Amino acid sequence: MRRKFIVGNWKMNTSRASAIELAKVVAAGVGSSGARVAVCPPAVYLEAVAATLAGSRVELGGQNAYFTNAGAFTGEHSPAMLKDIGCGLVILGHSERRQFFGETDEFVAKKAKLALENGLEPIVCVGETLQERQAGKTFEVLRTQLLGSLQTIEATHLPQVVIAYEPVWAIGTGVNATPEQAQEAHAFLRGLIAEKYGLPLSKSLVILYGGSVKADNAATLFGQPDVDGGLVGGAALDAKGFLQIVAAGA
Ligand code: PEP
Repeated sequence: MRRKFIVGNWKMNTSRASAIELAKVVAAGVGSSGARVAVCPPAVYLEAVAATLAGSRVELGGQNAYFTNAGAFTGEHSPAMLKDIGCGLVILGHSERRQFFGETDEFVAKKAKLALENGLEPIVCVGETLQERQAGKTFEVLRTQLLGSLQTIEATHLPQVVIAYEPVWAIGTGVNATPEQAQEAHAFLRGLIAEKYGLPLSKSLVILYGGSVKADNAATLFGQPDVDGGLVGGAALDAKGFLQIVAAGA
């Protein structure tokens, strides 16, 4: 049985004080059992949030990392650095990075490989735009992105990989995929994993849904057989709403 996993992506939001406060309330509210929970604050607040989460079961993740561990890459940070300050996870290939920073599947694959080598679980994001969906290209796009972003990943590493299906048209728009649309995409992604890595690994792979998850739609989305939780953006900035989403995954 796959355990539900709820991940908050705070993006480029919060201040040092509000990040600490948010982490404090989430840590106090998650209880001792239920869904696996993580938060991904901005990189500059990771250490402050790590200190706040110490002793709680809320895990810490980065929102990005580069594909080498050190060197002349101004403005970047590496998987080794994330690990060093207490992260266990890193979001890779988010559509905002693909869209605004030109990240390709090949680039994401290199980053995922190094993240795994450094003991981080990559959360690899894939998802189609509205234009691609309307053109009937959803499955083609998902196939290309998933297989491209995992091209460096051996079967032995797959259990440490998390996939997030995030239709671009649902991110930050308030319009979530319907549970049926999410289930269809997740089942397709799981099928691709079965083709590439075999059925047992595909059955244990955690696939999150992301795109306008909120307290009032989380339970129905997470109730789909292939939806294993959520990657939550906007709603993760409100501790009460985020905790309700976490509870929906219990
Ligand atoms: C995200 O950024 O990963 C996301 C899903 O955002 P939102 O929940 O705000 O749509």
